[in-house]
Amino acid sequence: MILPIVKYGDVVLTKKATPVTEFNEELQELVKNMFETMYAAPGVGLAAPQIGVSKRLFVMDCSGGKNPEEKLVLINPEIVQVEGKQTGDEGCLSFPNIYFEVTRPKRLVARAFDATGKEFTIDAMDLTARCIAHENDHLNGELFIQYLGPLKRELVMRKIKKRIKLGDWK
Ligand code: ZN
Repeated sequence: MILPIVKYGDVVLTKKATPVTEFNEELQELVKNMFETMYAAPGVGLAAPQIGVSKRLFVMDCSGGKNPEEKLVLINPEIVQVEGKQTGDEGCLSFPNIYFEVTRPKRLVARAFDATGKEFTIDAMDLTARCIAHENDHLNGELFIQYLGPLKRELVMRKIKKRIKLGDWK
């Protein structure tokens, strides 16, 4: 089932999400729906708060559905190591058609649980590392606009406010 994606302005996006405690059927269903929603958007990552569920999990696929090995779900993730820097354009499904440069770690190591409750470690580089860092921020109620300097941020916020006013923020 494709779920509506929450846009910037909704309080759920700035709340710290709570850990997943039960790896039950309901969770499997949520994960399945999150993948469907992400692929339909289309996007490469989607965190639970973006569909209004304040839980610590996200789905991602940097191959856009082309490589099954890149289809990932990270539940209760912890970033345990970061290394280097990369700067590149980033977008967010909660900020439709807004893109700007963000600096993220070049490489990171994260520990998380999969949908069956099994713990695993992922050592990620480049786009995968960027995606994990971005989605993990969502679980802490943090958004990518926080990485903008004050002037650029003001510019982006003005653009968003204008679009909200025009009803072009859905
Ligand atoms: Zn996002």
